[in-house]
Amino acid sequence: MSEPDRPAYRPATLLVHGGTMRSQFEETAEALYLTSGFVYESAEQAEATFAGTVHHYQYSRFGNPTVSMLEARLAALEGAEACRATATGMAAVHATMLSHLKAGDRLVASRALFGSCHWIVSTLLPRYGIEAEFVDGGDLEQWERALSRPASMVLLETPSNPMLEMVDLKAVCDLAHKAGAIVVVDNVFATPLLQRPMEFGADVVVYSATKHFDGQGRVLGGAILAGKAWVNDVLQPFIRNTGPSISPFNAWTILKGLETLHLRVPAMCRSAAVVADMLAEHPAIVRALYPFRADHPQQALAMKQMSAGGTLVTFEVKGGKAAAFRVLNALRLIRVSNNLGDSKSLVTHPATTTHMRVGAEERARLGINDGTVRLSVGLEDVGDLIEDLAIALGQA
Ligand SMILES: *Cc1c(COP(=O)(O)O)cnc(C)c1O
Repeated sequence: MSEPDRPAYRPATLLVHGGTMRSQFEETAEALYLTSGFVYESAEQAEATFAGTVHHYQYSRFGNPTVSMLEARLAALEGAEACRATATGMAAVHATMLSHLKAGDRLVASRALFGSCHWIVSTLLPRYGIEAEFVDGGDLEQWERALSRPASMVLLETPSNPMLEMVDLKAVCDLAHKAGAIVVVDNVFATPLLQRPMEFGADVVVYSATKHFDGQGRVLGGAILAGKAWVNDVLQPFIRNTGPSISPFNAWTILKGLETLHLRVPAMCRSAAVVADMLAEHPAIVRALYPFRADHPQQALAMKQMSAGGTLVTFEVKGGKAAAFRVLNALRLIRVSNNLGDSKSLVTHPATTTHMRVGAEERARLGINDGTVRLSVGLEDVGDLIEDLAIALGQA
């Protein structure tokens, strides 16, 4: 009797079961293969493995069963053909760019990038003869102008850090493809549960798994998702030979984190929306930015691309740096940290931390001023978060 066809699993199920490979012991939980290498039954099997005619794990820099489970789970969730996990989110971004680009190529990027991504584009790539041009991500005319010349890659982040600016994925992907570029989307802020860039035409999606995927502040990790041909032919040789590989232990921790992603992210989004409404009404605040609020300048685009407003709220405290610091220092439950996507609510002052190095001029262009505060909303009771914020804002 043949097995009946079964319908595809939904995201919550994929996050619990996707990619699971059981050993001969039939363990329930994903096994942690904490091993650097693998042995062969014979010299002939080793030869066949290196020749590529037999699949056998060789060395954990190239691949590891625990890491493979993470990659398969993320690929299933994203709806991507292939995934490679990396040691950090920055290793994912760096490997994506350096494996694809070469001297003489041109890259167009949105200005509002995570600090280290900005450094790679503006400082590292030009050293290797790769030309980089920044545009204001929300301005389609600037994208059109920049992509009226041939380009090899477009890199963007939406919503952006920390100003939660949206980029029109469909429009930019269409322009990029006409210019001959592949589109790389850093989807950290949205997570694959809220936004699926490949459905709008993105070719590569990158993540810091350190953020919502682990989501409990334990390990660093990253992921690159794309088509099978690009991953096998372009990315895999780069990873294999340069070694940004993730530790099997970190991959295992992230696998366990993913099992609750579909519970954590929507809960954090619900609280973030409540916190944003409270902040927007508060007299100590100039404005609160949250993608799904009616006063967000790109609310319509956010609602078209995302299924919820995300876990971050950015707001401006009246009175600049001194007032912002008084608020941060008066918070008790919400802690000062540059991390985000954690079960613990975390707050940061971008101008003096994450965006200190981009300089005052670039900060002004990005809309970050001395009163700007970024809040990553966690899993605490939202009533306690509101009370903590209300008391702290009283000190502004
Ligand atoms: C954190 C982050 C990264 C870098 O990830 P790491 O895991 O810290 O290396 C890249 N992009 C965005 C948007 C991030 O928030």
